[in-house]
Amino acid sequence: MIIDLDANSTYLPSEEIQEVMKLAWRRLGNPSSLHRGGQRARAEIERAREAVRYLVGAEKGDLVVFTSGATESNNMVLRAPWRSLAVSATEHPCVLGPARRVASAGAELRIIPVNEDGEVKTSHLEEALSRHTDFISIMAANNETGAINDIHELARVARSACPGAHIHTDAAQIVGKESISFAALGVDSMTISGHKFGALSGVGALIIREGIQLEPLLVGGVQESKLRGGTENVMGIISLGVAAQAVRETLSVRASTMSELRNCFEDSLLTTLAGVEINAKGAQRLPNTSNIFLAGSRGDDLVIALDREGILVSSGAACSSGKPEPSHVLMAMGQSEERVRSTIRVSFRADQSKEIVPRAVSAIVGAVSRMRSATSEN
Ligand code: PLP
Repeated sequence: MIIDLDANSTYLPSEEIQEVMKLAWRRLGNPSSLHRGGQRARAEIERAREAVRYLVGAEKGDLVVFTSGATESNNMVLRAPWRSLAVSATEHPCVLGPARRVASAGAELRIIPVNEDGEVKTSHLEEALSRHTDFISIMAANNETGAINDIHELARVARSACPGAHIHTDAAQIVGKESISFAALGVDSMTISGHKFGALSGVGALIIREGIQLEPLLVGGVQESKLRGGTENVMGIISLGVAAQAVRETLSVRASTMSELRNCFEDSLLTTLAGVEINAKGAQRLPNTSNIFLAGSRGDDLVIALDREGILVSSGAACSSGKPEPSHVLMAMGQSEERVRSTIRVSFRADQSKEIVPRAVSAIVGAVSRMRSATSEN
């Protein structure tokens, strides 16, 4: 049996969602068509929009713009001609990359540092802001460590220091794991990604506060309030709505199941193996995420060794696995490159049971012990 401990990379759709999707194929018209096939697809899209709005706590006038995922949503918000940006050091590359591109066109870019637990504190933010800052991006929860930022408080501080600035949060990882309310956070825009909470890959949304003007990334079509031209990804959007509803109905149970699993896993690993440290353990973390330093190991080699035993984990962010650079997230937390390279991320699903924990722990202990003894023999 494969044990998928890589839910933060892609949270594969549950069987229930797969069943609903099989039936949804019949509804695949072009939502812009006037005939019944088109109108059915349109109605499904609007239903999904309301399910997403409800899940993320957006208000009626806020826009829910469907995109191809968090990467597109973040690129879209960074498309505007910002002049002075402040983005946190541990943002996903799909925020850092477009922010650097804006900077290379002449804008000022300030990186907001994090503490050793990967959190942005209000003091870090205040230091990074200037009276010119017009765009601020701080992620709700980090994909590698699970560290959660207090976006409500950070947005309050940002708003009072820079009243005219656009405040954005990438909430791709927190949705489906903790409850979140766009309206209460006090931000102007928020990114979500379907495949992080059980929808298909390749669909997500940008939530935009009522009255905020943004420029489309894709022009040449009137879809999505003229903010995202092109025929909608109907199946993807339907899956997003179905997953949003499923998650909304079960969120507190999901969160407690995931945290029980994660805590049981960490306790067991820490008592079985020496030289283990949990990264970001001083922060409030996503309930399912464990980022672990394993002295004397290589994260990338561990991923391969565990895969051979049917256990799927990640070394750092999935999107950057296979790339030689060490995790920018752990480096921003002040860790040495050597330590960063000895790290893996384990992320649980809500439908897993505690029975998988002993097998995962024993596979990790075995693989790390073999690596340590191979190193000591050389
Ligand atoms: N933002 C965060 C925090 C993520 O974890 C990811 C994916 O790992 C992304 C953005 C990119 O998401 P997508 O695959 O939907 O483009």
